[in-house]
Amino acid sequence: MSGKVWDELLGQPEAIEQLTRVVENRESGVHHAWLFTGPHGSGRSNLAVSFAAALECESAGCGACQSCRLVVAGAHPDVTLFSTDRVQISIDEVRELVSKASLSTTLGKYRVLIIEDADRMTERTSNVLLKELEEPSENTIWILCAPSVSDLLPTIRSRTRNLNLRLPSTEEVAQLLHQRDGIGLEVARTAARQAQNHVGMARRLATNAEVRNRRSDTIALALGISNLSSAMMAADRFLQLAKKDAEQVSADKDEQEKTALLAAFGFSEGDKLPPSVRSSFKDLEENQKRRQTRLLRDGLDRILTDLESIYRDVLSIQLESGTELYNPESQEEISARAQSGTAEQTIAVLDGISQARARLASNVRDLLVLEALCVKLIFRRSRAN
Ligand SMILES: [Zn+2]
Repeated sequence: MSGKVWDELLGQPEAIEQLTRVVENRESGVHHAWLFTGPHGSGRSNLAVSFAAALECESAGCGACQSCRLVVAGAHPDVTLFSTDRVQISIDEVRELVSKASLSTTLGKYRVLIIEDADRMTERTSNVLLKELEEPSENTIWILCAPSVSDLLPTIRSRTRNLNLRLPSTEEVAQLLHQRDGIGLEVARTAARQAQNHVGMARRLATNAEVRNRRSDTIALALGISNLSSAMMAADRFLQLAKKDAEQVSADKDEQEKTALLAAFGFSEGDKLPPSVRSSFKDLEENQKRRQTRLLRDGLDRILTDLESIYRDVLSIQLESGTELYNPESQEEISARAQSGTAEQTIAVLDGISQARARLASNVRDLLVLEALCVKLIFRRSRAN
């Protein structure tokens, strides 16, 4: 039987089964370095946190004991989740993590160090980590998360055990929203399709009218770009929409995390906190502040995902592929676009969207990236004539 900490994870039965076995046999030793790979939205870091909780828990991840709750709330003293907002993870940050690896544990049996976006290490930085992986500290488990194995140096790869995750299907996401959150199946399916199977995004679309409105604004704006000035205006609006999205996600998450941390220590809102736990709350607040930049990136990423969904629809009409549209509610405008251009042009737009994503990740100014992209979206009916 697998523990409760795995329940929230979706579409990864093979990975969960494998990790559950590792946890059940942990007395005979746990491999010291893991590499979780999978696309954005596949839940790599959630899986890493669940694995950490299951390792530390006396009953293999019950989800209810203090240890489980502390890990999930990000406050377990022996579990570190390192994530960055920057393009690269610095060598000093990795040195600091490595120095933690040799500390003895305080609460649990293992020291678990999780690195999100481990593909963001230069070769030099990777080598600092490599040394540690070659001579691992006792009872220390590293979990690296990256899009694919090829994103890491072969020397690092050879030290790690790889688990590859996939993006769940539309139906799996819809069933989860239906069973866990009680969302009607049709609404859940629409949201899953629109979110292109990203669970978190689908849940927000299904449960929040503002999020739905922002998405339809994004689609309408993109489809309305007809000249340079409307392109510039759309770029500016996209940035505002992404900011609003980030603010809301941030407020929701901050609140949830604080409640979870209070509960993990056995307090409720408004209780006076003893000095011994105050530092955990300070850490949480600092992490939340650092997360702001990342959330704006996520907001921009969602806009790009929405734009992608429109142009995939345009392409599917142009190629007469007969697949179900992501945006059937905008079919008329999408068909007009499809008829006024060629599949090559649409592929160029899709490339432009991927390029914009890469440029945002490399810290080009947000508005500049969006403006350059929106210019590519100008819809000239005359092209077809
Ligand atoms: Zn537990």
